[in-house]
Amino acid sequence: MESEVDDRRSPRPPHRPSQPIPDPVPYEHRRDVEWATKVNRWQWADHERGHVKIDVCPRCGHRMSVFHPTGQRSGIGVIHLPDVSPMFVRCNCDVSHPGAPDGTEGAGCGYHGHISRPPFHL
Ligand SMILES: [Zn+2]
Ligand SMILES: [Zn+2]
Repeated sequence: MESEVDDRRSPRPPHRPSQPIPDPVPYEHRRDVEWATKVNRWQWADHERGHVKIDVCPRCGHRMSVFHPTGQRSGIGVIHLPDVSPMFVRCNCDVSHPGAPDGTEGAGCGYHGHISRPPFHL
């Protein structure tokens, strides 16, 4: 009895053209209201130590995150009211953009602005 072994079954990785990785936009330290407005629209998600937003940066398209800690208590005998002042955010993607300051990890693409804080949690 002869059994023919079909060698063609061996899996071959499908030919996939390597995806071109777009060059990151140059780093630009810039306060951008439009950018911040977009980040402000992202939904806050609960985090064990506060709130977090994760989405892609409206400028460079890389994943960035915004973290707002809650339950921060400082001082004694101070009445803590919800902090309604805007919070500072900046792109913190981990891609190094050309022209980013040396030694700054997660410097992002340089865009930053101010957004609303998450709803106050006791
Ligand atoms: Zn980026
Ligand atoms: Zn960015």
